[in-house]
This record gives sequence, structure tokens and C-alpha cells, in this order.
Amino acid sequence: MKYNLLNKIILVTGASKGIGKAISIKLAENGARVMLLSRNENELEENCASLRKSGYQCIYKAVDVSNLDDLLDAVEYAKNTWGTIDGLINNAGITDDNLIVRMKPSSFNQVIDVNLKGVFNGIKSVTKPMMKNNNGRIINITSVVAHTGNKGQANYAASKAGVIGLTKSAAKELASKNITVNAIAPGYIETNMTENLNQINKEKLLDSIPLNRLGQPDDIASMVCFLLTNQAQYITGQTINIDGGMVMQ
Ligand code: NDP
Repeated sequence: MKYNLLNKIILVTGASKGIGKAISIKLAENGARVMLLSRNENELEENCASLRKSGYQCIYKAVDVSNLDDLLDAVEYAKNTWGTIDGLINNAGITDDNLIVRMKPSSFNQVIDVNLKGVFNGIKSVTKPMMKNNNGRIINITSVVAHTGNKGQANYAASKAGVIGLTKSAAKELASKNITVNAIAPGYIETNMTENLNQINKEKLLDSIPLNRLGQPDDIASMVCFLLTNQAQYITGQTINIDGGMVMQ
């Protein structure tokens, strides 16, 4: 075990695939009890079964993060199963790209609802139990485009920039209760979300990445694990870029 997360109870949104799935596997491998959350119940069930088969503790629940009640129910379920909650990874996210001139207001709203309001809902749903424990860790997944902006991603970039402001505000509000709140800003990571990059775009993209390769979901999962350890207890309100050097601050 590289990170000591023994018996910590961690909720992961967007755990059905991609980065969220990699995070939940790594958490379990490092001793955590994980609750998998996303909309697709079948995928969650499959992922959970595979973790249990390896001897890890796992539960799952279908939720839409844009619905606060779904997340409050999930938190209740985790508390009823394991007694408390130690951490929440707000990872669920979507894209719906278009140039502003063609972007429908409904597309803007939907991306904000999932990527930004979803993170607010997540934080809100764990705040009371964590305050009661005088302990908690919240990690929000933002994006490199929160810093840089991106043509065709006004809705996505705005939602992810919002997550950084939300992270800092929550970190200030919750620090006195020993709850840390941080964000991770991945660059381009190989998942469903990036599989549609065509060859020309991919080459252009690689030119903008000093380490000259796309990242892997595991690169993000490792930082999530670290931020949940005792060694990270003095880090709060930060956004950690994991992007092969695309953004250097
Ligand atoms: P994927 O598309 O592979 O996975 C997205 C996850 O979010 C799925 O598990 C999906 O599950 C879940 N999800 C989507 N909408 C909702 C919703 N309304 N309620 C609950 N769950 C939802 O994306 P990635 O793994 O690539 O991305 C994960 C996070 O990382 C996102 O926040 C993304 O913005 C961010 N990110 C990704 C980058 C990349 O290069 N891949 C770069 C920068 C940031 P389901 O369909 O079952 O609901």
C-alpha cells in the first residue's frame, strides 16, 4: 500500500468510467472503503462487483449530481452502511462543445448544472456530517481549460473556472472544522472524453504539452490518494495542475 487510506470512507462521483473509475480502484487498493456514484447503475454494479471480487469494500448508488436530493440520499446510504464519511471526490463532468455563436443556452445551462452545481451539491451534501466529525477531505476535479479557456468550450471552461472559486470559498468556510477542500486540474487525459480528438488536433495538442504525451487516469488517481492522506493535512484551497506542464504558475 503506497498511501495509507485504511478504512477511510470515500465517495466518488462519475465513478462508472474514465478518471473516476481509476480513482475508485486506486482508493480501494490503498485500503479505502469506496462508494461509487454516477447515473449508469449497470456500470457501477459491474465496477463494484469487480472491486469486491478483489476483496475490497464497495457500495454504489445511481445519482445525477445536478440533483441535490440524489446526493443527500447517497450520503445517508453511506452513513447507514459504514457509519460516517471521510472524503468526497467531485469528479463527474460532461462536455457539450460548440462555438458561442452556435451554442444553445440549454447546452450552457446543462454543463453548468452538472460540472459546477454538481460540485456545489456534492459539497453541500457532505458538509454537515464532516462538520460533526470535525474532519473531512473534499477534492474537486476541474480542468486545465479553467486557466486557459478554450475555443468551443465556453460552457465547460466557465463551469471549471467556477469550480476553482467554489473550492477556495469552501476551503475558507470549512477550514475551522478541519475540512480541507482542494481541486485537481487535469490536462488532457486519455478517456472517453478525449477519444474523439482527431490526428491533426492531437499533434497540435502534443506540441503544447512539454512532457509530449497525454496523461493517464492513474496520474490523477495518485494525486487524489495523496490529498486524502495525513501527509496532506496542511494543504487546502489549492488547485493542483496535472497536465504534463501545459500550465506553469
Ligand atoms: P468520462 O466521460 O470518461 O466520465 C465522466 C463520468 O461522469 C462518468 O462516470 C459519467 O457517468 C459521470 N457523469 C456524467 N454526468 C453525470 C451526472 N449528471 N451525474 C452523475 N454522474 C455523471 O470523463 P473523464 O473521466 O475524462 O472526466 C472525469 C472528470 O475529469 C470530469 O469532471 C472532466 O471534466 C474532468 N477532466 C477530464 C479531462 C480529460 O482529458 N479526460 C481533462 C480535464 C478535466 P454516467 O454516464 O454513468 O453518469
